[in-house]
Order: sequence, then C-alpha cells, then structure tokens
Amino acid sequence: MRQHQVDDASARPPSAARYLGRSRLGIGVAAATLALAACGGGGGGGGGEEAAEGYPDGDITVVVPFSAGGPTDTVTRLVAEPMAEELGGNIVVQNVEGAGGTVAAGEVAAANPDGYTVLMHHIGMSTAPSLYPDLAYDPLADFKTVGLVTEVPMTIVARKDLEPQTMEELVVYLQQNADTVTLANAGIGAASHLCGLLLQEAIGQTLTEVPYEGTGPALTDLVAGQVDVMCDQTTNTTGQIQGGEVKAYAVTTPERVASLPDLPTTAEAGLPELQVGVWHGLYVPAETPDEIVQRLSDALKVALADQAVIDQLADLGSAPVAEEEATPEAHTERLSEQIELWRPIIEQAGVSAD
Ligand code: ASP
Repeated sequence: MRQHQVDDASARPPSAARYLGRSRLGIGVAAATLALAACGGGGGGGGGEEAAEGYPDGDITVVVPFSAGGPTDTVTRLVAEPMAEELGGNIVVQNVEGAGGTVAAGEVAAANPDGYTVLMHHIGMSTAPSLYPDLAYDPLADFKTVGLVTEVPMTIVARKDLEPQTMEELVVYLQQNADTVTLANAGIGAASHLCGLLLQEAIGQTLTEVPYEGTGPALTDLVAGQVDVMCDQTTNTTGQIQGGEVKAYAVTTPERVASLPDLPTTAEAGLPELQVGVWHGLYVPAETPDEIVQRLSDALKVALADQAVIDQLADLGSAPVAEEEATPEAHTERLSEQIELWRPIIEQAGVSAD
C-alpha cells in the first residue's frame, strides 16, 4: 500500500495559495479534458471511469473553514486519516478562516475541479445564503456534495466563575445583565453564532456578540475569562467541561448526551425552542467528475465505519451519520432542506453579515 498521512497544515499560514496554485496548474488539464469531451472522449463534470483512473496521484487538500483546534478541524482530522488510507493517498488538512466559513467555501468553489481540493463544512453552508447577501457562491450550484459526516450536539457554556449554577438561573442572569454580558461565536454564520441567535431569541434580549475565526480561539478566551458565554459543539467543549475549565448549563439536542450525562437538555430547562444540532459534510467544486466524487464518498463511508473514529466521536458526544447518509444524494437533500429551514429564522432575527 502507498504511504498515507494526514499532514498538519495548520502549522502553516492560513493561505489558500497551495491549492489555488494547483488550480492554476490545472488550467491546461481542464482545457484538454474539455477538448476530449468535444470529441466524445468523456471527462468534465459528468465524469467517466477514466476521470478517476490513477486518482489520487498527489496530495488531497481538505479545507477546514475555521481555525485549527476547533470542532470542524477535529472532525476533519478524525476522518481524514482513514479516508487517506482507503484512497491510498495523502490528505493535507488546511485551515482557511474568515467570515463564518464563507472565505474557505468561496475559494473551494473556485478551485480546480479535479478531486484534489475538498471542503469540510457544517450547518453554516446552509445559513450563508441568508446571512450574506453578496455571497460569492451558491452552495447547491457551485459544489457537488460527497456525503454527510457527523451530527454534533451543542452545549451552552460559560466562564467557570459566572454566577448562575443552572440553565434556569442563567436565563434570569442573562436577562438582568444583557447590557454587560458578552457572547462569543466563531463568526457570522458559524454554528455558535446560530445557537447564540436562538439563545437571544429564547431569553428575549440582545447580548453583545464577540466574533472569532473559530471555536479554538473563542474557547481559549472563554477559559481565560475574557468572554462570558458561548454555545458550541461538544467536540470541543467536552474536554473543557469535564476538566472544570468552563461551566456547562445544557445541551441543545432533544436527548441528553451520553458523554455528558448530568447536563440537562435545553427543553428540560424550559427552553424547547433552543435546539440545534450541527451536521458536517464534504464538498468538491461543481465540475468535479462523478467518478471521483464516488471514490471520495466510498472512502468517507469506510472512515465512518472505523471503530477508532466511532469511539473517538462518542467520547466527544458525537457519532458518524448512518451509512446511507454518507452519500451525495442524502447530503444534497439535507443541504436543500436546511437552506429553506434557516432562511425564515434568519430573516425574522433580522441578521445580515453586510
Ligand atoms: N464550532 C465553530 C462554529 O461555531 C466552528 C469551528 O471552529 O469549528 O461553527
């Protein structure tokens, strides 16, 4: 078997130059493919078996749209290794932060559609069209979906010395101190931003939001007491909760989370409308050949069935999606549904990134 590895690209500057470089190099290849298609040779977005022949023959870059050390980064690195092994190639994880994940998504939409640039994104892919009036891409038209990856609960957490001890007390505290409390998030359109919107809606107050470029730096500031409250995925908050570095109030899922059994659900705490789960999925540029998308999707399924991945996700309060959801079809369906689900909620909240 060929060597496989997951490279730690987070150590490098968050630049898209590397895979954009591949895009530029790929122009000649794309032109040649088009010429072949015109002669009945196949290729292009529809794909053909020859499109995947020899794939992968070089590093595959999986772009994470938030900082290193956050939930999306954690999920990506967990699945990247078994995917690389299954594909018989190398996967490089690259963090491209900014604007709630839209910078990375825009760059991947414009990358060479050769299967070497892949995006890992979450629920934010479905909310961006409602939040960003000038979005540079269309989530449905400018990408092919590869498959859903995981579902991750969120937790309401605070700096460890915040007074309230329960979710009920927190609600009262936030209502009484709305003018001074700070609410961290990972940028407009991040899952933490959405959860924060629902929290503010639930308590009937507007709080001062503090945006970061990912949960990594936001959580660091929460632990240091620089910000007061946050809602974020169990993938990152579990360790901090178990270690007593943050105070936890509730999980945002209908059921309690096995790895954090003492935490009530928001519904148990009297806020049934405050529910949000974070789904992740893999995307490639729209013209990527179907055969390559299928290779990636098959590798994703294998990765999600890997017992080590299942166990590590369980420790972090999460789980892989069912096998039939790790498919382009199920993923497109989820994305379409969620775009429609979030549009009225965001419109009603009157939030816009411009
Ligand atoms: N958890 C973040 C969010 O709120 C993103 C991240 O850093 O993975 O969307």
